[in-house]
Amino acid sequence: MPVLSVVSPVYCEGAQVRVFLDAVEAVLRSAALSYELVLVDDGSTDDSWQRMKEESGRRPCLRCLRLSRNFGKEAALAAGLEAARGEAVVTLDCDLQHPPELIPEMIRIWLADEADIVEARKEKRQRESRLDSFFAALFYKMFRLLTSLDLEGAGDFKLLDRDVVEAWKSMPERKLFYRGMTSWLGFRRRELFFIPAERRSGGGKWSFFKKIRLALDSLTAFSAKPITLIWLLGLFFFGFSLVVGSEALWMHFSGRAMTGFTSVILLILVTGASVLAAICILSVYIRQNFHEIKSRPRYLISERAGDGENPRRRKRGAGR
Ligand code: UDP
Ligand code: MG
Repeated sequence: MPVLSVVSPVYCEGAQVRVFLDAVEAVLRSAALSYELVLVDDGSTDDSWQRMKEESGRRPCLRCLRLSRNFGKEAALAAGLEAARGEAVVTLDCDLQHPPELIPEMIRIWLADEADIVEARKEKRQRESRLDSFFAALFYKMFRLLTSLDLEGAGDFKLLDRDVVEAWKSMPERKLFYRGMTSWLGFRRRELFFIPAERRSGGGKWSFFKKIRLALDSLTAFSAKPITLIWLLGLFFFGFSLVVGSEALWMHFSGRAMTGFTSVILLILVTGASVLAAICILSVYIRQNFHEIKSRPRYLISERAGDGENPRRRKRGAGR
């Protein structure tokens, strides 16, 4: 069994699979530990899988999994974590934006038994559009407000001890949010800081809507506080209707009721908007429940390569 597993999700990164593996192996060799590399192809549409298979022929320590379609980075990471056999697991992106040079320091901290999770945090964010950084900042603020977990600067570049990996695997949810889930787990943690490098090739793989979806799923997976908001809204409107209703009745019976077009329109608009907002909040939770309750596997494996695995035996598999 290797001491260390290095896990990375791959989506349409054919051009840099080899460069990535070279860089990681160079660093790991200098760390003088037994290791394995686990790459998970998240249903790439380019030649990534071909490249990965070639590399697994050349590198005895490389195992590759191929998901049956694009399940998203979080599911690909889960597939890698579940396949990893090391006593510690390092997860990082394969676009070299997470510098592998940080791994020896992570291992040192772990071996010295100073922490169970060694987290690499971004000192500043990678170059991105203003809109992206605005929404990212908004998301992290809301996440902290709703869950009390601070994910600012957190990414998916971490070292997890085997105990942490097992605890992580016991979390049954279908909709995954790796950095939030590891943060929720607790354990002893240490932080390292890095400045993300520029992408070596290709562009980011996240469309704007994919990010919004991940943000909504993560917020509702980690906090039910927005539902409390509906309660507060309901209480407020109850008080409000008592006051305004009594006043209207009083005016009516004392014969001083006036035609009040503006106030009626405003009342209808405000109550209508509040009811719709409440339905919106509920619908996000219903959507979340819908996915969880179906209990479909988090990912499906369609092919494996490397590590002398017999391709006819256990070729396929599914995440819980
Ligand atoms: N990725 C993936 N599935 C996806 C999108 C991305 O496995 O649907 C992988 C991608 O190959 C890379 C990592 O996730 O290794 C981070 O992706 P990207 O660089 O696009 O994200 P960013 O750096 O903007 O966070
Ligand atoms: Mg990247």
